[in-house]
Amino acid sequence: MLRQLLPRAGRAFRAPVARQLLPLSLAARQPARCYSIKPEAASSAKPLDVDPSRLSITKTTSPKELVDPAKLIFGREFTDHMLTIEWTQQDGWLAPKITPYQNLSLDPATCVFHYAFECFEGMKAYKDKNGQVRLFRPDKNMERMNKSTARIALPTFSPTAVIDLIAQFAKLESRFIPEERGYSLYLRPTVIGTQKTLGVGPPGSALLYVIASPVGPYYPTGFKAVSLEATDYAVRAWPGGVGDKKLGANYAPCIVPQMEAASRGFQQNLWLFGEQEYVTEVGTMNMFVAMKNKETGQKELLTAPLDGTILPGVTRDSILALAREKLAPEGWMISERKYTMKEVAEASKEGRLMEAFGAGTAAIVSPVRTISWKGEAVDCGLSEHEESGEIALRMKGWIEARQYGDEEHEWSHVC
Ligand SMILES: *Cc1c(COP(=O)(O)O)cnc(C)c1O
Repeated sequence: MLRQLLPRAGRAFRAPVARQLLPLSLAARQPARCYSIKPEAASSAKPLDVDPSRLSITKTTSPKELVDPAKLIFGREFTDHMLTIEWTQQDGWLAPKITPYQNLSLDPATCVFHYAFECFEGMKAYKDKNGQVRLFRPDKNMERMNKSTARIALPTFSPTAVIDLIAQFAKLESRFIPEERGYSLYLRPTVIGTQKTLGVGPPGSALLYVIASPVGPYYPTGFKAVSLEATDYAVRAWPGGVGDKKLGANYAPCIVPQMEAASRGFQQNLWLFGEQEYVTEVGTMNMFVAMKNKETGQKELLTAPLDGTILPGVTRDSILALAREKLAPEGWMISERKYTMKEVAEASKEGRLMEAFGAGTAAIVSPVRTISWKGEAVDCGLSEHEESGEIALRMKGWIEARQYGDEEHEWSHVC
């Protein structure tokens, strides 16, 4: 009986009534076991995959007025339309639709509200100097989203089909993307379980939707280095957990530690893990530090490895690739390895810590000035009047060049 709670390859399986009544406490007690989920496996019995040729577009009759770009607040304004694709266990993915932006109507018993059948992505569309709309490495987002959906028994989909649809959607909303550097259209692909049931089981229906929000530069007046508080009383993710997936359920529990840090004057919290106090992530960004090796003096750019507790960021991956391409030839060592807060504090004390920064789609990079840890303020290597280290600055430049199509590159997907 308990085994049946594990994600199953076959979609024909329907939960028996007794299992649907299984209390959550029991469900949580399923035996710990190691299993890998292949996105293909979860979708193998699906009748129909997403089909862009079936797209229908219903345009709004009341186009929104554009907000002054300088007044944009992240995630507040939305475009005229949304992309939706319904899925049912029986029929698979139904015809995709672009419709006017509108409310969803869901029964209060819908499983997303009770058991958090929800995962999402964060990606952006940029306008290049010729007015073309471009996505940045959308294949990475879709690959990650399929891993998220598969982990919570939601349906997977053809990544290329959904990229095609997102590209059409972004192009349709092109007027919302300001031309200026730093501006973009934030895209939020989301998948929710829509089955109306309090039974704990795989949802028999789901909805994939994409909404879009015009956003301005994260640092409108240039970089502003942040101060972090290392959180020692809560962990974000753990081995065998789901911290490496973008599940909505991972984020709500992070707000209180964030508020706690804010109440003491820190802009973000730094997530450590274990007795060794490994540095993992900063807020909802991946963390990078640049330091000189204690023995050899060699410069090292390091970030935590993808051991299941780290969100595999597209920005993280891009920074590592750029570092291997451009910094390694300058003599840098590029490392994905575990490192501890103690190691960072020691490097700081010995003047070997060059810089530290968070990395994610929203800001690209977010330089760190200090980390408060065990009552100590660990200085991250910026001088008093510096708001960013050199590596963070160069990375931002290199990544933006590819996002905005200044440098033609395979990472940039013209819509
Ligand atoms: C989304 C996210 C990141 C950054 O991922 P990007 O793909 O670079 O935007 C890092 N950590 C967490 C916890 C995240 O949710």
